Amino acid sequence: PPLYKQRYQIVLELVEKFKAKKVVDLGCAECTLLSRLKFCNCIEVLAGVDTDLDLLREKMYRLSPLPCEYLQPRGSPLTVRLYQGSVAVKDPYMLDFDFVSCIELIEHLDPPVLEKFPEVVFGYMNPAIVVVSTPNADFNPLLPGLMGFRHWDHRFEWSREEFQAWSLDAANKYGYTVEFTGVGRGPPGTERLGYCTQIATFLRNFPKSMLPAETKNAERSYKLVYEVVYPSLK
Ligand code: SAM
Repeated sequence: PPLYKQRYQIVLELVEKFKAKKVVDLGCAECTLLSRLKFCNCIEVLAGVDTDLDLLREKMYRLSPLPCEYLQPRGSPLTVRLYQGSVAVKDPYMLDFDFVSCIELIEHLDPPVLEKFPEVVFGYMNPAIVVVSTPNADFNPLLPGLMGFRHWDHRFEWSREEFQAWSLDAANKYGYTVEFTGVGRGPPGTERLGYCTQIATFLRNFPKSMLPAETKNAERSYKLVYEVVYPSLK
């Protein structure tokens, strides 16, 4: 399967493994990952966040229930919401999620936004699980004809060492344990360059009950763009 599907597969497997109930995809773009996640029966609240309002408005109907979903309702409830907002900003809508995915997002962030990311995602949102993927620059020599970055909008592409240092720093600061993996193998003999996409999975070290509650009445800055409640038997 193409690389993007392999990335989504990793997220889907982790959601199923941890039976995540409240899942948010940061930088959800075309809502492609969300359109797959909605078939995970464990999820009760599924949200997407992106700064690009036009893109969300164009793609949001991908998340509306299909006729067959009315005819055969889910066993468990599901609400899907899309927000326009930035990962640099704390918004009370983002509290209470237990699973956060950030697929190919961080390399699009300007330095001041990237700097805020750990504080917002780990410190404030504080979910049990965070999955972050980003290109592995060590792999770039294997990409034919590549000059510079893989995409014009990338602000950086990190080596495994750089990504792991950033991840470990955030994990240590906010009480998470992090593991590294990836998707997209090179041809035999290139294993030392790692995967095409590098992935960090962060697991919170403490149960939520041990943490101070965030104040919910803080000011909202995210804009709710789309909301749909799925038909369900419960
Ligand atoms: N996650 C998507 C996927 O795997 O299909 C791809 C993400 S796309 C490469 C990057 C997205 O991040 C864009 O849709 C962009 O609008 C969004 N973005 C950029 N800066 C952001 C920010 N500060 N907060 C939230 N989203 C942001």
